[in-house]
Amino acid sequence: MERNPAKGVNLLSECIFCRIIRREIPAQIVYEDEQVVAFRDINPVAPTHILIIPREHIASVAEATPEHQALLGQLLLAAPRIAEKIGIERDNFRLVINTGADAGQTVFHIHVHLLAGRPLAWPPG
Ligand code: 5GP
Repeated sequence: MERNPAKGVNLLSECIFCRIIRREIPAQIVYEDEQVVAFRDINPVAPTHILIIPREHIASVAEATPEHQALLGQLLLAAPRIAEKIGIERDNFRLVINTGADAGQTVFHIHVHLLAGRPLAWPPG
């Protein structure tokens, strides 16, 4: 369980993404399986902007351990499946994982941003 107040979450019950998984907060869920849930970002920055998250609460990639290796892989492998399911190209998208506040992470439950539907510049801001 995450206990560092600087990281924004003291209790799992307060984690906004855990609450989405538990259906306590509405979200447009586009995909789910035993380990992974994906839903549309509330503030999309591209025509398609999906967040892919593990059901297990892990605050960030920096908090992940070797026991999460398969789960982290499942987050990535879900992306082309989700793309197919929602009817976008399964091989033309960007995946982003912000890790730490300075990198832009605002929700401390690991999530992969799936962005598609417009040309995406590089390097990102
Ligand atoms: P981060 O900045 O941590 O990489 O990304 C967090 C993302 O979660 C942001 O893009 C933000 O718009 C999204 N977000 C925050 N709160 C909610 C919410 O309650 N519902 C949904 N669907 N997305 C959220």
